[in-house]
Amino acid sequence: MALEKLGKALNSALKKLARSKTVDEATIKEVVRDIQRALIQADVNVRLVLQLTKTIEKRALEEEPPAGASKKEHIIQIVYEELTKFLGKEAKPLEIKEKPTVLLTVGIQGSGKTTSVAKLARHLQKRGYKVGVVCSDTWRPGAYYQLKQLLEPYGIEVSGDPEEKDAVKLAYKGVEYFRGKDVDVIIVDSAGRHKEESGLIEEMKQISQAIKPHEVILVIDGTIGQQAYNQALAFKEATPIGSIIVTKLDGSAKGGGALSAVAATGAPIKFIGVGERIDDLEAFDPKRFVSRLLGMGDIEGLLEKLEELQKQQAVSEEDLEKFLKGKFNLKDMYAQLEAMQKMGPLKQVLQMIPGLGYSLPDDAVRVGEEKLRRYRIIMDSMTEEELEHPEIINYSRIKRIARGSGTSTAEVRELLNQYNQMKKMFKSMDKRKLAKMAKRFNF
Ligand code: GDP
Repeated sequence: MALEKLGKALNSALKKLARSKTVDEATIKEVVRDIQRALIQADVNVRLVLQLTKTIEKRALEEEPPAGASKKEHIIQIVYEELTKFLGKEAKPLEIKEKPTVLLTVGIQGSGKTTSVAKLARHLQKRGYKVGVVCSDTWRPGAYYQLKQLLEPYGIEVSGDPEEKDAVKLAYKGVEYFRGKDVDVIIVDSAGRHKEESGLIEEMKQISQAIKPHEVILVIDGTIGQQAYNQALAFKEATPIGSIIVTKLDGSAKGGGALSAVAATGAPIKFIGVGERIDDLEAFDPKRFVSRLLGMGDIEGLLEKLEELQKQQAVSEEDLEKFLKGKFNLKDMYAQLEAMQKMGPLKQVLQMIPGLGYSLPDDAVRVGEEKLRRYRIIMDSMTEEELEHPEIINYSRIKRIARGSGTSTAEVRELLNQYNQMKKMFKSMDKRKLAKMAKRFNF
C-alpha cells in the first residue's frame, strides 16, 4: 500500500469525526488540525497544506450537506474532493494511439528509472500491446543487462549495446530496429547519471530530437519528498509533452510530499511505483488513490485488479469466490500463495475492499519463496483427503506427513497454522460487504 502511514493518519482523523456526537465548529477545526498534522508529517509543503486545509475548513463550515447526506458524510466528501484536487483531480492515462508509439523515459540515477521501464513494458504487454525496449544508457552498462534480465522472462525484447558510447545514436538505432519489428510501443530508457538536472535535460532534448517520441516520461524518486517540485518543474519547462512516474511510494514516509509537489507543478502523474517487483506499478488516478488512502474502499480499483488477475489466469473466478468466502482447503491455499508470489500481493487487492482498510496482518498473506517450496514438499506427502479436508489432520497424521516429507512436525504444524490463520481472517471479514461484492462479480 502506497503512503500507508499517511493513509492511517487521515483515516483516524475521519474516524474521530465519525465517532463524535455532534459536529460543530470545534469538531471541524480539530479534524482540520489532524489532517494538517498528517500531511506535514508526510513532508507535504506547509504552504500547500495550509491552503488545502483552509479550503476544507471553509467548505465544511459554510456548505450545507446535500439532501439525504449527514453533516459528517458531507465533511468526509469534502476532504475526499479537496485531496483529489490536490493530487491532480482527473486521471491522465497513458494513451497509445499510433503504431508504434515511442516513449522516452528520463530520470536521475537511482530514481527507479530502469525498473520503471521494465514495469511499464510489462504493464503494456499485459494490456495486449507488443512492446520493444531500447536501452540508451551509456553511463551504466549494467542497465542493459538489468533490463534484459527483468524482461526476458516475459518475451519482451531489449535493444542496446553496452560498448556504444553515443547515447543519441543508440536510441536512434534501437527505435529504428523496433520500427522494423512491428511493435506497438517502443520504450527508450536513457542515462540517469548527471550531476545536475541541466545535463539530464540537455540529453533528453538531444535524444528527443533524434527519435521524436510521442511522450517523454520523467521518473521521480518518491522518497525525496517535496524536493520533487523543482525536478518536476524543470522538466515540465523543458518539454511540453511530459508525464511523470513517481516511484517508491511503498513505505516512503515522504511520498505524500513528492506526489503533491509534482501535482502542484501541473505535470500529469501517470503511474506510481509501489514496490520492487515488475508488477508493482499502478496507473495513477487521484480519485481512486485518495479513496483508498482514506480507507473508503474502492470498488473500481478492485474491479480492475480482479480483471487483471483473471486475465493472467493465475486465479480463477472459482478460486476467488472460495477465497473471499473463506471456503478453501490446503490445495487452494497453496494455489493462492503461489499466485501471489507471481503477481504481487493479494493484500493489495484486499485493501481495496470497502471497510477492510488496514486490518490485514502481513504474514497472513505473504509467504517467502523458500517457505512455499517447503510447503509444496509437505503437501506432496499428504493424502488427497487431507488436502481437501485439513481438519482431519491429527497428531499421528502430522507425524506421518513430517516423516514422509523429510520435514519436522513443527514445520507441518506451521503450514497448518498458516492455513488456519488465513481461514480465520477471511471468516472474520464483514460478511455483508463480501456478499455484496460477490453479487457484483456474479459469484
Ligand atoms: P535507476 O538508476 O533510476 O535506473 O534505478 P533502478 O531502476 O536501478 O532502481 C534503483 C533501486 O530502486 C532498485 O533497488 C529498485 O529495486 C528500487 N526501486 C525502483 N522502484 C521502486 C519502487 O517503486 N519501490 C521500491 N521499494 N523500490 C523501487
